[in-house]
Amino acid sequence: MQVYKSIETWRKARQQLSSGPLGFVPTMGALHAGHMKLVERSIQENKHTLVSIFINPTQFDNNADLQHYPKTLDADIKLLEEAGVHTLIMPNASEIYADDYRFILRENALSKQLCGQHRPGHFDGVLTVVLKLFNLVQPNKAYFGKKDFQQYLLIKDMAEALFLDIEIIGCETVRAKDGLALSSRNTKLSIAERQKASLLYERLRASKPIDDIAGALEKDGFKIDYVEEHADRRFAAVWLGDVRLIDNVEKHSV
Ligand code: AMP
Repeated sequence: MQVYKSIETWRKARQQLSSGPLGFVPTMGALHAGHMKLVERSIQENKHTLVSIFINPTQFDNNADLQHYPKTLDADIKLLEEAGVHTLIMPNASEIYADDYRFILRENALSKQLCGQHRPGHFDGVLTVVLKLFNLVQPNKAYFGKKDFQQYLLIKDMAEALFLDIEIIGCETVRAKDGLALSSRNTKLSIAERQKASLLYERLRASKPIDDIAGALEKDGFKIDYVEEHADRRFAAVWLGDVRLIDNVEKHSV
Protein backbone atom coordinates (compact mmCIF):
# COMPACT_ATOMS: atom_id res chain seq x y z
CA MET A 1 0.00 0.00 0.00
CA GLN A 2 1.31 3.44 -0.94
CA VAL A 3 0.90 6.01 1.83
CA TYR A 4 0.90 9.74 1.06
CA LYS A 5 0.93 12.48 3.67
CA SER A 6 1.80 15.32 1.35
CA ILE A 7 -0.88 16.59 -0.99
CA GLU A 8 1.68 17.66 -3.56
CA THR A 9 3.30 14.21 -3.71
CA TRP A 10 -0.09 12.54 -3.94
CA ARG A 11 -1.21 14.82 -6.79
CA LYS A 12 1.87 13.89 -8.81
CA ALA A 13 1.19 10.20 -8.17
CA ARG A 14 -2.46 10.67 -9.20
CA GLN A 15 -1.37 11.96 -12.60
CA GLN A 16 0.70 8.84 -13.11
CA LEU A 17 -1.92 6.36 -11.93
CA SER A 18 -2.72 3.83 -14.66
CA SER A 19 -6.20 4.03 -16.10
CA GLY A 20 -9.10 1.99 -14.72
CA PRO A 21 -11.80 2.86 -12.23
CA LEU A 22 -10.72 4.40 -8.93
CA GLY A 23 -12.87 3.83 -5.85
CA PHE A 24 -12.59 6.19 -2.89
CA VAL A 25 -13.49 5.64 0.78
CA PRO A 26 -13.11 8.78 2.91
CA THR A 27 -12.76 8.13 6.67
CA MET A 28 -11.61 9.74 9.90
CA GLY A 29 -9.70 6.59 10.92
CA ALA A 30 -10.21 4.42 14.03
CA LEU A 31 -11.37 1.86 11.47
CA HIS A 32 -13.84 -0.93 12.23
CA ALA A 33 -15.88 -3.49 10.30
CA GLY A 34 -18.29 -0.75 9.10
CA HIS A 35 -15.48 1.11 7.33
CA MET A 36 -14.05 -2.14 6.01
CA LYS A 37 -17.35 -3.07 4.37
CA LEU A 38 -17.05 0.08 2.25
CA VAL A 39 -13.42 -0.74 1.49
CA GLU A 40 -14.26 -4.32 0.45
CA ARG A 41 -17.01 -3.11 -1.85
CA SER A 42 -14.68 -0.60 -3.47
CA ILE A 43 -12.02 -3.26 -4.01
CA GLN A 44 -14.61 -5.51 -5.65
CA GLU A 45 -15.86 -2.79 -7.98
CA ASN A 46 -12.70 -0.89 -8.96
CA LYS A 47 -9.19 -1.41 -10.25
CA HIS A 48 -7.73 0.91 -7.60
CA THR A 49 -9.02 1.67 -4.12
CA LEU A 50 -7.93 4.74 -2.22
CA VAL A 51 -8.78 5.38 1.43
CA SER A 52 -8.28 8.72 3.16
CA ILE A 53 -7.82 9.17 6.89
CA PHE A 54 -8.41 12.76 7.86
CA ILE A 55 -9.96 13.94 11.13
CA ASN A 56 -11.68 16.96 9.67
CA PRO A 57 -11.61 19.81 12.22
CA THR A 58 -14.28 21.90 10.49
CA GLN A 59 -17.02 19.31 11.01
CA PHE A 60 -16.60 19.25 14.81
CA ASP A 61 -18.84 21.66 16.67
CA ASN A 62 -17.10 20.84 19.95
CA ASN A 63 -13.37 21.15 20.50
CA ALA A 64 -13.21 18.47 23.23
CA ASP A 65 -14.84 15.99 20.82
CA LEU A 66 -12.17 16.81 18.22
CA GLN A 67 -9.32 16.49 20.74
CA HIS A 68 -10.58 13.14 22.05
CA TYR A 69 -11.55 11.60 18.72
CA PRO A 70 -10.09 8.03 18.77
CA LYS A 71 -6.86 7.43 16.85
CA THR A 72 -5.59 3.91 16.02
CA LEU A 73 -3.32 4.60 13.07
CA ASP A 74 -1.05 1.51 13.25
CA ALA A 75 -4.04 -0.83 13.45
CA ASP A 76 -5.78 1.11 10.64
CA ILE A 77 -2.80 0.72 8.31
CA LYS A 78 -2.63 -3.01 9.04
CA LEU A 79 -6.35 -3.47 8.32
CA LEU A 80 -6.14 -1.54 5.04
CA GLU A 81 -3.04 -3.41 3.92
CA GLU A 82 -4.61 -6.78 4.71
CA ALA A 83 -7.74 -5.81 2.80
CA GLY A 84 -5.66 -5.02 -0.30
CA VAL A 85 -6.09 -1.23 -0.43
CA HIS A 86 -3.72 0.30 -2.97
CA THR A 87 -3.39 3.84 -1.63
CA LEU A 88 -3.86 5.64 1.66
CA ILE A 89 -3.75 9.42 1.89
CA MET A 90 -3.43 11.15 5.25
CA PRO A 91 -3.32 14.88 4.53
CA ASN A 92 -2.65 17.56 7.16
CA ALA A 93 -5.31 20.04 8.17
CA SER A 94 -2.91 22.89 7.33
CA GLU A 95 -2.65 21.66 3.73
CA ILE A 96 -6.34 20.87 3.32
CA TYR A 97 -7.26 24.27 4.75
CA ALA A 98 -4.45 26.36 3.27
CA ASP A 99 -7.25 28.88 2.58
CA ASP A 100 -8.01 29.10 6.34
CA TYR A 101 -11.50 27.79 5.58
CA ARG A 102 -12.37 30.94 3.66
CA PHE A 103 -14.23 28.88 1.09
CA ILE A 104 -17.13 26.91 2.50
CA LEU A 105 -19.66 24.77 0.69
CA ARG A 106 -23.07 25.33 2.24
CA GLU A 107 -26.34 23.56 1.58
CA ASN A 108 -29.37 25.44 2.78
CA ALA A 109 -32.14 22.92 3.38
CA LEU A 110 -31.48 19.34 4.54
CA SER A 111 -28.19 20.34 6.21
CA LYS A 112 -30.14 22.51 8.66
CA GLN A 113 -32.35 19.63 9.83
CA LEU A 114 -31.79 16.55 12.02
CA CYS A 115 -28.08 16.50 12.99
CA GLY A 116 -27.58 19.89 11.33
CA GLN A 117 -30.02 21.50 13.73
CA HIS A 118 -28.04 20.22 16.72
CA ARG A 119 -24.53 20.59 15.31
CA PRO A 120 -24.35 24.02 13.67
CA GLY A 121 -21.88 24.12 10.79
CA HIS A 122 -21.29 20.37 10.87
CA PHE A 123 -22.45 19.67 7.33
CA ASP A 124 -20.69 22.77 5.95
CA GLY A 125 -17.48 21.15 7.21
CA VAL A 126 -18.42 17.75 5.81
CA LEU A 127 -19.41 19.01 2.35
CA THR A 128 -16.39 21.30 2.06
CA VAL A 129 -13.89 18.61 2.97
CA VAL A 130 -15.54 15.96 0.80
CA LEU A 131 -15.47 18.29 -2.19
CA LYS A 132 -11.78 19.07 -1.56
CA LEU A 133 -11.00 15.35 -1.23
CA PHE A 134 -12.98 14.55 -4.39
CA ASN A 135 -10.91 17.13 -6.27
CA LEU A 136 -7.67 15.67 -4.93
CA VAL A 137 -8.56 12.03 -5.52
CA GLN A 138 -10.66 12.33 -8.71
CA PRO A 139 -12.44 9.04 -8.09
CA ASN A 140 -14.96 7.34 -10.34
CA LYS A 141 -16.95 6.00 -7.40
CA ALA A 142 -17.09 7.04 -3.75
CA TYR A 143 -18.49 4.94 -0.91
CA PHE A 144 -20.45 6.21 2.10
CA GLY A 145 -22.22 4.41 4.95
CA LYS A 146 -25.96 4.66 5.48
CA LYS A 147 -25.24 4.81 9.19
CA ASP A 148 -24.68 8.50 8.45
CA PHE A 149 -27.70 8.62 6.17
CA GLN A 150 -28.13 12.40 6.20
CA GLN A 151 -24.48 12.81 5.21
CA TYR A 152 -24.90 10.25 2.41
CA LEU A 153 -27.96 12.10 1.05
CA LEU A 154 -26.23 15.48 1.18
CA ILE A 155 -23.15 14.18 -0.62
CA LYS A 156 -25.29 12.48 -3.27
CA ASP A 157 -27.20 15.75 -3.81
CA MET A 158 -23.96 17.76 -3.86
CA ALA A 159 -22.50 15.51 -6.58
CA GLU A 160 -25.61 16.05 -8.67
CA ALA A 161 -25.90 19.79 -8.03
CA LEU A 162 -22.23 20.45 -8.85
CA PHE A 163 -22.15 18.10 -11.88
CA LEU A 164 -19.44 15.93 -10.34
CA ASP A 165 -18.63 12.91 -12.45
CA ILE A 166 -18.55 10.62 -9.42
CA GLU A 167 -20.96 7.83 -8.58
CA ILE A 168 -21.97 8.05 -4.91
CA ILE A 169 -22.63 4.62 -3.45
CA GLY A 170 -24.44 4.06 -0.15
CA CYS A 171 -23.59 0.94 1.86
CA GLU A 172 -25.80 -0.66 4.50
CA THR A 173 -25.04 -0.05 8.19
CA VAL A 174 -22.84 -2.68 9.80
CA ARG A 175 -23.99 -3.55 13.33
CA ALA A 176 -22.66 -5.39 16.34
CA LYS A 177 -24.47 -8.64 17.26
CA ASP A 178 -26.75 -6.78 19.67
CA GLY A 179 -27.78 -4.32 16.94
CA LEU A 180 -25.67 -1.28 17.85
CA ALA A 181 -24.37 0.44 14.69
CA LEU A 182 -20.57 0.22 14.68
CA SER A 183 -18.97 3.60 15.22
CA SER A 184 -15.48 4.79 16.12
CA ARG A 185 -17.06 6.61 19.07
CA ASN A 186 -18.41 3.35 20.60
CA THR A 187 -14.97 2.75 22.13
CA LYS A 188 -15.62 5.78 24.34
CA LEU A 189 -18.64 4.10 26.03
CA SER A 190 -18.25 2.58 29.51
CA ILE A 191 -19.20 -1.10 29.88
CA ALA A 192 -22.60 -0.16 31.31
CA GLU A 193 -23.21 2.46 28.59
CA ARG A 194 -22.19 -0.02 25.89
CA GLN A 195 -24.78 -2.50 27.19
CA LYS A 196 -27.48 0.12 27.20
CA ALA A 197 -26.51 1.47 23.77
CA SER A 198 -28.11 -1.45 21.89
CA LEU A 199 -31.54 -0.22 23.05
CA LEU A 200 -31.28 2.66 20.56
CA TYR A 201 -31.69 0.36 17.55
CA GLU A 202 -34.23 -1.81 19.34
CA ARG A 203 -36.46 1.13 20.26
CA LEU A 204 -36.11 2.76 16.85
CA ARG A 205 -37.44 -0.37 15.15
CA ALA A 206 -40.53 -0.65 17.35
CA SER A 207 -43.79 -0.07 15.47
CA LYS A 208 -44.82 2.80 17.73
CA PRO A 209 -45.20 6.54 17.19
CA ILE A 210 -41.90 8.39 17.44
CA ASP A 211 -43.01 10.32 20.53
CA ASP A 212 -43.42 7.01 22.37
CA ILE A 213 -39.99 5.92 21.18
CA ALA A 214 -38.42 9.17 22.40
CA GLY A 215 -40.18 8.67 25.75
CA ALA A 216 -38.90 5.10 26.07
CA LEU A 217 -35.33 6.16 25.24
CA GLU A 218 -35.51 8.90 27.84
CA LYS A 219 -36.67 6.39 30.44
CA ASP A 220 -33.75 4.15 29.46
CA GLY A 221 -31.43 7.02 30.39
CA PHE A 222 -30.55 8.45 26.97
CA LYS A 223 -30.44 12.22 26.52
CA ILE A 224 -32.22 12.96 23.29
CA ASP A 225 -31.15 15.35 20.54
CA TYR A 226 -33.94 14.19 18.23
CA VAL A 227 -36.10 11.27 17.17
CA GLU A 228 -37.70 12.19 13.85
CA GLU A 229 -39.12 10.80 10.66
CA HIS A 230 -37.83 12.15 7.39
CA ALA A 231 -38.86 10.83 3.96
CA ASP A 232 -39.11 7.06 4.39
CA ARG A 233 -36.76 6.74 7.35
CA ARG A 234 -36.71 7.18 11.09
CA PHE A 235 -33.69 8.99 12.53
CA ALA A 236 -32.36 9.46 16.06
CA ALA A 237 -29.43 11.11 17.80
CA VAL A 238 -28.96 10.52 21.52
CA TRP A 239 -26.32 10.88 24.19
CA LEU A 240 -25.02 8.36 26.70
CA GLY A 241 -22.74 10.33 29.02
CA ASP A 242 -20.62 12.42 26.69
CA VAL A 243 -20.88 10.03 23.74
CA ARG A 244 -23.30 10.96 20.96
CA LEU A 245 -24.87 8.05 19.09
CA ILE A 246 -26.83 8.26 15.84
CA ASP A 247 -28.85 5.67 13.99
CA ASN A 248 -31.59 5.40 11.39
CA VAL A 249 -33.89 2.69 10.02
CA GLU A 250 -36.15 2.34 7.03
CA LYS A 251 -39.77 2.98 8.03
CA HIS A 252 -41.10 -0.11 6.27
CA SER A 253 -38.70 -2.30 8.26
CA VAL A 254 -40.41 -0.98 11.41
P1 AMP B 1 -16.13 8.15 9.67
O1 AMP B 1 -14.75 7.61 9.82
O2 AMP B 1 -16.97 8.04 10.90
O3 AMP B 1 -16.15 9.53 9.03
O4 AMP B 1 -16.85 7.21 8.62
C1 AMP B 1 -16.31 7.00 7.33
C2 AMP B 1 -17.33 6.31 6.47
O5 AMP B 1 -17.66 5.04 7.04
C3 AMP B 1 -18.65 7.09 6.39
O6 AMP B 1 -19.17 6.99 5.06
C4 AMP B 1 -19.54 6.37 7.36
O7 AMP B 1 -20.91 6.47 7.07
C5 AMP B 1 -19.05 4.94 7.17
N1 AMP B 1 -19.42 4.12 8.35
C6 AMP B 1 -19.11 4.39 9.65
N2 AMP B 1 -19.67 3.45 10.45
C7 AMP B 1 -20.35 2.60 9.64
C8 AMP B 1 -21.16 1.44 9.87
N3 AMP B 1 -21.38 0.95 11.09
N4 AMP B 1 -21.71 0.82 8.80
C9 AMP B 1 -21.50 1.30 7.54
N5 AMP B 1 -20.75 2.38 7.26
C10 AMP B 1 -20.19 3.02 8.29
